[in-house]
Amino acid sequence: MAVRGKRAFVSFFDRKFKRILLKLSGEALMGARDYGIDYDYLFKLVEAIANLADAGIQLAIVVGGGNIHRGSRGVEYGVSRVNGDFMGMLATVINAIAIHSALNKLGKESRVMSSIRMQEVCEPYINHHAHKHLSKGRIIILSSGVGIPFLTTDTAAALRAVELECDVMLKGTHKVDGVYNCDPAKNDEAVFFEKISYSEILEKNLKFMDASAVTLARDNNLPMAVFSIKNPSNLLDVICGKCRCSFISGEKD
Ligand code: UDP
Repeated sequence: MAVRGKRAFVSFFDRKFKRILLKLSGEALMGARDYGIDYDYLFKLVEAIANLADAGIQLAIVVGGGNIHRGSRGVEYGVSRVNGDFMGMLATVINAIAIHSALNKLGKESRVMSSIRMQEVCEPYINHHAHKHLSKGRIIILSSGVGIPFLTTDTAAALRAVELECDVMLKGTHKVDGVYNCDPAKNDEAVFFEKISYSEILEKNLKFMDASAVTLARDNNLPMAVFSIKNPSNLLDVICGKCRCSFISGEKD
């Protein structure tokens, strides 16, 4: 397997990050299972998240729902795309509550916020409330994506990272350890990018993240890194530049 952009990421990780947006795909929460939440894995992941917070990093987490439902499923059984998307967004709330509960067990203060209002379950996402939680050291878990069908939680993550003035967006995935020019599970010749620009991703039409998320990041100069969260300790390692990952920024960065 070829690797492109070797060592280019070193200066990126020399930066000090105060506020991070962590995007967790729903599938990451499956651990060793093929559906739902693997609580043994979740607890290890949450310990890694708590370690990061203990190191003084302010953490906003956007969680996906693909371990439970995606909007495109069920169409042939009469579930409209819009309803399917709402089901997907509700799945992210289930995941967010699971993460919050595990953090609670560890004694870490966190809040679940949702872009769809459901006051009996969690707080609504309100930007200045989210800022306040972060500056008080609370971990915030942002659910329901953007609250609008036909979008994904990657776009929500980029949007919230920009809104909350995060220094970087980290995307922890289950399937890959970074950005490739094609699916490494299907092609031995897949090229791994240690560094890639927003415009190159858009030109090459790489599918690991929505174009809308990449465009938002590009227009707001939000650096991003994609890494494997299969091993939860990668979370700390990726920030220290010790874990294999791809980092994404503008051409000149
Ligand atoms: N979704 C949506 N609008 C949003 C965010 C998510 O409609 O702003 C729906 C969409 O159906 C998506 C599902 O929620 O398939 C789960 O989110 P996503 O696929 O991003 O989760 P992940 O792949 O990160 O687990």
